[in-house]
Amino acid sequence: MIIILKPGATQEQINHIVEKVEKLGLKSWVSKGVEKTIIGVIGEEDVLRVQPLEAFAGVEKVLPILKPFKLVSREFKDTDTVVDVKGVKIGGKEIVVMAGPCAVEKKDLLLEIAREVKKAGAKILRGGAFKPRTSPYSFQGLGEEGLKYLREAAEQTGLLILTEIMDTRDVSLVGKYTDIFQIGARNMQNFNLLKEIGQTKKPVLLKRGMSSTIKELLMSAEYIAANGNLNIILCERGIRTFTEYTRNTFDIIAIPVVKELSHLPIIVDPSHATGKWGLVEPACKAAVAIGADGLLIEVHTRPEEALSDGVQSIVPERFNVLMRELKTIAKAVGREI
Ligand code: PEP
Ligand code: MN
Repeated sequence: MIIILKPGATQEQINHIVEKVEKLGLKSWVSKGVEKTIIGVIGEEDVLRVQPLEAFAGVEKVLPILKPFKLVSREFKDTDTVVDVKGVKIGGKEIVVMAGPCAVEKKDLLLEIAREVKKAGAKILRGGAFKPRTSPYSFQGLGEEGLKYLREAAEQTGLLILTEIMDTRDVSLVGKYTDIFQIGARNMQNFNLLKEIGQTKKPVLLKRGMSSTIKELLMSAEYIAANGNLNIILCERGIRTFTEYTRNTFDIIAIPVVKELSHLPIIVDPSHATGKWGLVEPACKAAVAIGADGLLIEVHTRPEEALSDGVQSIVPERFNVLMRELKTIAKAVGREI
């Protein structure tokens, strides 16, 4: 449920309500907006039904949240959440571009790609050090060595980094190097991983599972939020349908739907959504036009030699042109890149 406070509610009154709620074994989240402060309450709410919360000083009204996801819902917070990653703001006016290879392969290659994407205007370097491959015989990633290369690339270029975490046992290792944790499509419902990441305060990019509904995506985000981390960025990366021409079906309407249901930012991964480099550019343009807060694009200087996802990786020259074209579309919808 949410407790809406009166405009003039004092800090003392807020503390008193929070204390009461927590004494009952429930968790509370205070969200201070410009016009009103609300307290979100999660847990077994039945104990609160017999408590006349409306009688507390400072309380205007108490409302149930009808959605199964609560902390991440629009009902809980009607203003957009902006996730601040060391000064790069995701969910604000700027559309943040994250780009780089599918996997971290060699140090020099990563540095070369990092310099190119930085030059074209990307803010965040992507690259997997732990790769969730369909086949156990495919390249599985460089592990910690790859994380070190990412850190070095970040230091040399000034880019921030984003890399996938697949295992609860690696949270502190990956957390030591990365600026944003990526939870991949295959782990969207790895609830233990979601809980562990929730206990860190580090920003997390949560990708939609390939067979997951939007509601399930938001329920997974709720796991992270309920464990204490609201620095969540959602990602639409395509879902599996009967269509086989593209790797996945880019569910573009998920962007405004998520914005209607949740206050969290949502970005688009056109590379995995389409699976073909030639389709990445139009998918990016559509994503920007429909309101995505960012893009996650696979870029490789030698896609034909890439150890994973070369067919959907674009070369820096095309990335550069794309970035320029996206600026015009962003401007038309009141955003910037
Ligand atoms: C990735 O971004 O490297 C990746 C594996 O994507 P997904 O989890 O969306 O398949
Ligand atoms: Mn990939």
